[in-house]
Amino acid sequence: MKILVTGGAGYIGSHSCIELAASNHQVVILDNLCNASLVSIARAEKLAGTRFPLHRIDLRDGEAVHRLFEREHFDAVVHFAALKAVGESVEKPLDYYDNNVVGSIHLLQAMRAHGCKRLVFSSSATVYGNPDSVPVNEDAPLRVTNPYGRTKLVTEDMIRDACAADPQFSAILLRYFNPVGAHPSGEIGEDPRGIPNNLMPYICQVAVGRRDHLGVFGGDWPTVDGTGVRDYIHVVDLARAHADAINALEYARHPATTLNLGTGQGISVLQLVRAFEQARVRAFEQASGRKVPCEIVARRAGDVAAVYADPRRAKEVIGWQAARGVDEMCVDAWRWQSRNPEGYGAA
Ligand code: NAD
Ligand code: UDP
Repeated sequence: MKILVTGGAGYIGSHSCIELAASNHQVVILDNLCNASLVSIARAEKLAGTRFPLHRIDLRDGEAVHRLFEREHFDAVVHFAALKAVGESVEKPLDYYDNNVVGSIHLLQAMRAHGCKRLVFSSSATVYGNPDSVPVNEDAPLRVTNPYGRTKLVTEDMIRDACAADPQFSAILLRYFNPVGAHPSGEIGEDPRGIPNNLMPYICQVAVGRRDHLGVFGGDWPTVDGTGVRDYIHVVDLARAHADAINALEYARHPATTLNLGTGQGISVLQLVRAFEQARVRAFEQASGRKVPCEIVARRAGDVAAVYADPRRAKEVIGWQAARGVDEMCVDAWRWQSRNPEGYGAA
């Protein structure tokens, strides 16, 4: 199929373009590069051995999105493009609604106008908020706690409504848990701008010497060691799920099916730090290398103790399950970070 990948220059999008190409799909990228670099596309093309033509379009520009669908026929869309920083969304909620919700409306309108009937959407485990129990399955109550999460839930609802209104329209909504790691080549990976909000990129930047220690947000959570527990998932496994979802849509209708993407394993902050240190020693023989000094600091506003997935539905519906463990996540994250200490910026 010919697939439009919105946000295809970004962290998860660039890995997913490679997996879609490996599944013999033709990939076209739409990205405004507000949080990505052209270098990621060039490197992903090299890894995939094929071209990923880029349309530098902002989804908020409905006319431009429309014109693209007029010029090219797409069989399906994988929709990653969004702003994703929770804290920033609290400060600038309207920017988030504008970018993530209005952008998605333009995309859905263009798809409807041009008869494109298959969609895979990037949602997030953030829609579960503080779950009553773990592991969380897809039927758990939805309780978003910040504007970013609300943009995801509103977009999920719009897609469900679009599916209900058009029996031919088919969509898979993927709720990611905590994507980490990088392509095993070390050529593409996560390149956050400024101070990382997320744990793994922060650990990597401490390890590479860009920051001197990790602040651990709370040491008194009701968890195995008092630190927060999450379900980390290797970005290549996550990327493969998009190819599996697209392939499932090629042959069957999925009236707005929602799937969790996680490993089902909960890992604490300190367990991840130790795993990272050990993986580094084992894989890179950097026994005398820099440790990751940690300091317990105050809890972060809005954080929750433990969230991890029940990922069984993804296996039943699209035949997907995570294959890579925490060791591989850490080795690949470090390979990317150590070869690209300044991310794509220095390339
Ligand atoms: P990313 O910022 O690396 O990628 C998003 C891409 O979308 C970027 O290349 C950016 O330039 C582009 N973009 C943003 N707004 C756009 C617009 N209006 N028009 C065109 N392009 C636009 O983020 P990512 O980590 O790869 O996340 C991809 C998707 O997965 C997002 O929807 C995000 O909300 C979702 N998600 C990410 C995580 C995570 O931890 N990384 C977790 C759950 C869900
Ligand atoms: N965390 C931390 N220090 C940091 C960043 C994150 O202790 O600098 C903790 C955070 O409190 C949570 C876990 O690491 O328990 C994962 O945080 P992240 O922001 O990566 O994911 P999310 O909380 O959105 O699931």
